[in-house]
Amino acid sequence: MLGHPPDTHRGGPLTAALDIGGTKISAALVDPGGTLTARAQRPTPRTAGAEDVRSAVVACLRDLARHEDWQHVGALGVCSAGPVDRARGTASPVNIPAWREYPLLTALSELPELSGLPTRFGGDAVAMTAGEHRYGAARGHRNALCMVVSTGVGAGLVLDGQVRLGPTGNAGHLGHVTVDLDGEQCPCGSSGCLERLASGEAITRRALHSGWRPPEGGAPTTAAVAEAARAGDPPAREAFDRAARALAAGIAGCATLLELEVAVLGGGVMQASDLLLPRIRRYMERYAPLPFAELTLTTAALGSDAGLVGAAALARAD
Ligand SMILES: [Zn+2]
Repeated sequence: MLGHPPDTHRGGPLTAALDIGGTKISAALVDPGGTLTARAQRPTPRTAGAEDVRSAVVACLRDLARHEDWQHVGALGVCSAGPVDRARGTASPVNIPAWREYPLLTALSELPELSGLPTRFGGDAVAMTAGEHRYGAARGHRNALCMVVSTGVGAGLVLDGQVRLGPTGNAGHLGHVTVDLDGEQCPCGSSGCLERLASGEAITRRALHSGWRPPEGGAPTTAAVAEAARAGDPPAREAFDRAARALAAGIAGCATLLELEVAVLGGGVMQASDLLLPRIRRYMERYAPLPFAELTLTTAALGSDAGLVGAAALARAD
């Protein structure tokens, strides 16, 4: 609660979680079982200045800190759209142009409400990985790849039972691994990146390029491409097939390199898992033929709260 003297009531069982995305900023209290018991949310002022974004984050956290259970919070987990640098505590979310190497952890440390709270910070895909490993589809597995297939493609790794963060918190960033030697330029500076072939935008762009058009009056969304693919539209089917092939190549590379047990796929594009999973499995047979590279392919368990649950899991990770 606001007005608590600093450094009291720390060590409680609840975790405060903060998830900073390009559309919304969310915060929540998360219990030890991974259930959200209170939440606060603000729209991300993505075209505003750096201080306006900070103000929205602070307002969101203060909304949460007014909850009577705030006194039982023992840790804070923070995740942000990437890239992030967890060593320096900075965030440069692609979709929030005002924040470039923004000193997020320093800004948070100035809030009296957060005084004395141990804080962990990571990119949203790494947080999702921590959440799926602790509470979701990767639970009980010692070696896993977790992916978010959405506007972009993010991923994180669990190796020997621990989330692999990497020095800056970006380890496992499979979306920017080249899977097409002659592929198109990627904003990251490379070319042929998995993200350029398998993101929602990439699927829609490919379908449009091949002649697919949304139904009369409809928007050209990935969901509309998926509907068309289910109805047998050849360009729409080909766009999903190409995305599945790229995903399979990326997953197969990781599986062969790291001997993974499971690959967990989440994010908005996986609402078309009926189109993607069978195709990814088929292409995995081609790209990961060695017996030790065999893994279980499954969909994420945490859904739209994956960021918050993941940030909480990150805060409580060993
Ligand atoms: Zn790239």
